[in-house]
Amino acid sequence: MNDLVQRRRDLLGPNVSTFYKDPVHIVKGEGVWLWDNDGRKYLDCYNNVPHVGHCNPRVVEAIYEQAKTLNTHTRYLHEGILNYVEKLTATFDEALDTAIMTCTGSEANDIALRMAEGMTGKRGIIATDATYHGNTTLVSHLSKSNAPEVGFGLGEYLRHVEAPDSYRIADPDGTRFAAKVQAAIDDLEAAGIGFAALIVCPLFLNEGFPDQKEGWLKPTADAARKAGGLLICDEVQSGFARCGSHFWAHQKQGVVPDIVTMGKPMGNGHPVAGLVTRADIMESFRKSFRYFNTFGGNPVSVAAANAVLDELKDKDLQANAAKVGKLAKERLLEMATKYDFIGDVRESGMVFGAEFVLDKETKEPAVAFADVIINKMRERGIILSKLGRHKNTLKIRPPMPFGDEHLDLLMTTLDEVLAETPVTAG
Ligand code: PMP
Repeated sequence: MNDLVQRRRDLLGPNVSTFYKDPVHIVKGEGVWLWDNDGRKYLDCYNNVPHVGHCNPRVVEAIYEQAKTLNTHTRYLHEGILNYVEKLTATFDEALDTAIMTCTGSEANDIALRMAEGMTGKRGIIATDATYHGNTTLVSHLSKSNAPEVGFGLGEYLRHVEAPDSYRIADPDGTRFAAKVQAAIDDLEAAGIGFAALIVCPLFLNEGFPDQKEGWLKPTADAARKAGGLLICDEVQSGFARCGSHFWAHQKQGVVPDIVTMGKPMGNGHPVAGLVTRADIMESFRKSFRYFNTFGGNPVSVAAANAVLDELKDKDLQANAAKVGKLAKERLLEMATKYDFIGDVRESGMVFGAEFVLDKETKEPAVAFADVIINKMRERGIILSKLGRHKNTLKIRPPMPFGDEHLDLLMTTLDEVLAETPVTAG
């Protein structure tokens, strides 16, 4: 193991992150299970990329069949991408009926920002202050805490608004957040920059998936639209039925965005991503730039993505996400009555977790404690992580076929670990 850590450092450079104090060396996956190099089995409660399950046979077969028939760059005619985009856009509001396919979510967000500039003739971008939208020169600078030290950056063209936090900031109908966005729009206008787009994850997933009633984002979307800017929903994490109640999280939020970007779960691990938008936005972008992506939407990627959509539908995994999420919340709420350090419990379908605090009154985040719990869970064969503005919220975001029996194992183990672990400050 140490040898691998050292080789990784030597060959890939320093600062390439791994999970856990004692990193896991995974060699095999199946459904919601992972195996390490010693043959130890882990329950995967974390990974959203193998959306329809690790090594899903239908996806594997689709990739294999297409790879042995044809794989090329994307400048030939091929019905695969067209059939897929038809099927994909059918899951959206009818106004959103065109797509660009890419290989990563970062590329999709990069294009979305450029589309917004093209459509509005303005350059001002608004993003939330604890999010992540990718790694290109342009979008990496949307992150506040993790922006690169070098690169052109968005400089004066970027405004951050405070991310929502339903546990600490009361905003039941989303009007407080909308007012913050409006203030940022006004600021961009006053600076002579103008407002091009607001980009948000509609579940604010990296920021801690706050509890929000349906339609919470509507006042914000109205403000953005009134000001003539675009609403970009980054559904790289929140999309493809994860929230259970809807196929796309923006639908839960009661809005029709101008652009929706997607990635991670789209090809179940095969690198496929993209965006969906209106025809007028697409036309303006295509006219301004002859965009070409060598691999984006190639026949094999599209076959993988198509199999994911079929699997979601045939196995009714959206309904499963809603059902398991509800049960998970009940189990976590039960634990919250036993453990004072559980300050809040949140759930949005197949993403759920508990926020750990040192004191329920002050809500001081128990960050070190969250780390201890995650590492102990790993020792017991359960893979999960943490997230949120304060990095003290359990991030439980399993593959979509996660069932009742897996939930039971997760919650029973978590209960045991919480019972035996003293709360540590930090
Ligand atoms: N947007 C969000 C919300 C993400 O979580 C990520 C990846 N963590 C990205 C965009 C970037 O996607 P990719 O790594 O495929 O470029």
